[in-house]
Amino acid sequence: ESRMTTKYLGRQVVFFAETDSTNQKAKLFGEERRENGTLVVAEHQTLGKGRRGRKWESPEGENIYMSLLLYPQIQTSSAPQLTLVMAMAVAKGIREVYGTDVGIKWPNDVVLSGKKICGILTEMSLEAEFISYVVIGVGLNVAQQEFPQEIRDKATSLLLETKKSVSRSELIAEVIRHFEDLYERFLIKENLSDLREEYNALLLNRGKEVRISTPKEEYTATGLGINDTGELLVRLEDGSERAIYAGEVSVRGL
Ligand code: ATP
Repeated sequence: ESRMTTKYLGRQVVFFAETDSTNQKAKLFGEERRENGTLVVAEHQTLGKGRRGRKWESPEGENIYMSLLLYPQIQTSSAPQLTLVMAMAVAKGIREVYGTDVGIKWPNDVVLSGKKICGILTEMSLEAEFISYVVIGVGLNVAQQEFPQEIRDKATSLLLETKKSVSRSELIAEVIRHFEDLYERFLIKENLSDLREEYNALLLNRGKEVRISTPKEEYTATGLGINDTGELLVRLEDGSERAIYAGEVSVRGL
């Protein structure tokens, strides 16, 4: 059943009752050059992945695990910005369906009541120095009631916070519809300059203290907003400003 009202994203939906990870499947489809915008959806993932080899808890039930396959003709250095585009699409889709405001914790976490409800993992494959395909994975906690001990204080679901039950296919359709609109606007300049204000309006780190840790250093700063390429601008204690790149950085504090 498809409720898609998009032009080309999610016209082709491949559903798995169980899979290792939807990103893994979408990457295989990318190797096969399946249709642009193919969406992989699973009811359960046995090896759900987060950034930097982290695990994404993916129990069977009422959550959303999905990955979108794209063939953007953009610089490889622009591809990580798609994670921010998807975070916006998820936030807007949720607002549409639940009538609830959710925020974004830079770069890629969608947060409700200070807890994480969604993780996004973007992966790309290169051929020579060009992008062969990009896969954007979304794990969204829709109706999960309980979380494992390790993440109990930082994870929640839409049902737990809003007490509302919605149709997952409608939520998927809304997220993909918003993504299509934002993605097309992103592609015009291949950066976030036209989306920056909208992203910053959803950004929870704005004016807040953030704890930044990189392999080299750890420090505290104030979040200001993203720049045109999706880096987080922060003000340091000495008043100077700095742009931090998502790659190897972990940001704490909301
Ligand atoms: P962090 O939010 O800790 O900085 P990250 O952004 O680097 O993590 P992600 O890829 O977004 O990493 O998510 C992986 C992390 O999210 C895990 O290490 C775990 O702490 C947490 N997590 C795992 N599964 C879930 C889930 N279903 N819901 C919410 N949080 C989860």
